[in-house]
Amino acid sequence: MRSRRGNTYLAKVKEHAGIEGNEGADRLANIGAQCEHPDEISLEIPDQYCIRGAKFSTLTQAMLYKGIRERKMTKYKERPATELTIESVRTVVTARTNRVPSDSTIWKSIRSLDMDRKIRAFLYRALHNLQRVGKYWKKIPQHEYKATCGTCNKTESMEHIFTECVNTGQQQIWNIASQVLQSRGIDPGLKSLSNWLSAGMPNIKRPNGRAGKAKNRFFTIVMSESLYLIWLIRCEWRMEKEENELDKHTSQEIEARWKHRLNRRLRLDQAMARKKMTEWRKLNKNLVLNTWRGSLNREAQLPEDWIGEKGVLVSIEDRRPPGRNR
Ligand SMILES: [Zn+2]
Repeated sequence: MRSRRGNTYLAKVKEHAGIEGNEGADRLANIGAQCEHPDEISLEIPDQYCIRGAKFSTLTQAMLYKGIRERKMTKYKERPATELTIESVRTVVTARTNRVPSDSTIWKSIRSLDMDRKIRAFLYRALHNLQRVGKYWKKIPQHEYKATCGTCNKTESMEHIFTECVNTGQQQIWNIASQVLQSRGIDPGLKSLSNWLSAGMPNIKRPNGRAGKAKNRFFTIVMSESLYLIWLIRCEWRMEKEENELDKHTSQEIEARWKHRLNRRLRLDQAMARKKMTEWRKLNKNLVLNTWRGSLNREAQLPEDWIGEKGVLVSIEDRRPPGRNR
């Protein structure tokens, strides 16, 4: 078969139906069965036909990538720290969605296109526990001091940065994010690292029981942008500002930064929903309008379709009517 020049196709044929090849094979099998000694058949493959590996001309990049990955992965086992993080994310998402997400659902969620590319990369590293935080520094001579959060006098950890630290803006950012979500009737859940990390797995249902695509998208955008802002502030505080108390981020600054990030996303959405966009990158206009509906500044004054408008901004005012949704 290897020495054949043309393509070889295999097809299943009906047996005992008078098909010549099949009948012939039966005859030979009969003769073979009656032989006293087995025939000596050489199973060696001539060198010129013995090709190992993959054929470049028919290889796609995805196949090549998969092959390389499979070879490499045999060497690695899942890191225990990764398993722990995945497990705690699973717990949060199970509570949120009443469904137990599989590992692949969780990994897929951090590739959600509703999140900024940098945030996706951050989440990948966070699920693998790769950020150089806390314990990591304890083993590195002359850098041991970096393991501790100077202000809180505690070993730093992702949990600390996102749920406890007084200088990462986490409390204020959580307050803003949950208020903005609640004003749309979205439950932000409880503040925890796993809740932040599961930004890509929302579960909002419309009254008819179907997934609320726009609100889910809003949840993912707000949670992921907020998460990343905390990380940026933490890094600036620890590295650029070298934990100088006189130079710490003020709450006005944090609020302005939050608005800035969200407004950037809003403008990007507007741009991607405009007609000029090439088809493959284009966002559905109604999806964009519904994603932000109810969360904009002076929304009543905006036209019904504000995709082409300039100066549309995200609002963080609490505009829930008193007594409802509380
Ligand atoms: Zn701290």
